[in-house]
Amino acid sequence: MTEFELIQQYFAQAAAAQTHEPTVALGIGDDCALITPPTGQQLAISTDTLVAGRHFPVETDAFSIGWKALAVNVSDLAAMGATPHSVLLALTLPDANAAFLAELARGLFAACHQYGVRLIGGDTTRGPCLSLTLTVLGWVPTGQAVTRAGAQVNDLIVVTGTLGDAAYALRHPHSPLQYRLDRPEARSTFGQRLRGLASAMLDISDGLAQDLGHVLQASGLGAVVYAEQLPLHPIVAALPLAERLSLALTGGDDYELCLSIAPDRLADLQAVADDCHIPITVIGQMRQPQGLTLTYDGQPLHMTLTGFLHFDR
Ligand code: ADP
Ligand code: MG
Repeated sequence: MTEFELIQQYFAQAAAAQTHEPTVALGIGDDCALITPPTGQQLAISTDTLVAGRHFPVETDAFSIGWKALAVNVSDLAAMGATPHSVLLALTLPDANAAFLAELARGLFAACHQYGVRLIGGDTTRGPCLSLTLTVLGWVPTGQAVTRAGAQVNDLIVVTGTLGDAAYALRHPHSPLQYRLDRPEARSTFGQRLRGLASAMLDISDGLAQDLGHVLQASGLGAVVYAEQLPLHPIVAALPLAERLSLALTGGDDYELCLSIAPDRLADLQAVADDCHIPITVIGQMRQPQGLTLTYDGQPLHMTLTGFLHFDR
């Protein structure tokens, strides 16, 4: 048996052991998987690549790599309000180290179990460096997906969790925030419950300022963000002002959700957040088109693209 037969056997066996799902008519093993789409639902589909040394430090443990690859893909489904269903894994490996692969698969399937996802296919190739491309499939009731384009003037801007944790962990290896970089959580259940509630939504993968910019562009709006309101982990909050704001505004890899919501729906949102045990924070408000305005305690705040911050006083 070749290395790659071993790999496939390993992933295929674990996939076969996953809970049976009637909508998966045919899983791993043939030329295609066959899915029976539920009526009244749209297919939400997204793909994300993780390359060693670029999307995770090369020294990241194999379990975390498998976990993160799935979680960041499910995060995209969450950001649309979609329910995760299945995933395809295209794996490129420099070599087939059995212990490494076993841990990678264990991390991947742990995340699959967490988010209710079945591995239904993939591809395995040899290449110069480790790379994982996952394609996730999910369902969303027809017409109910939460896009980036639906924000309205005066909608409140809300984020989940804390911001800048993963970027802090990247700069300070072995800190207590390491898990935020290695084992991100997709806000899957919460995201699904925002259908019909959030007017626009995305997940924060590239830093709040850049990602919120995508919502503003898609919705044709501007916004004000109150920088003193940005939710920070105590470790990040203890940093000097410019540093902590730079992490929170430009740090990537947090996979928190950023959403807009009509002010009169905030109480409903808070009830859902409480129910899901997800902390949420209002950090700003949508405005007429005028770009992104940052303030700190009411003072205008200027930020360069590199994330350097200075006050306008
Ligand atoms: P083909 O040459 O027809 O693409 P492969 O030998 O690449 O077939 O794959 C055989 C089966 O194994 C297919 O069902 C494919 O989806 C699945 N598969 C291959 N690699 C992986 C992987 N890394 N994870 C999950 N399924 C895989
Ligand atoms: Mg193939």
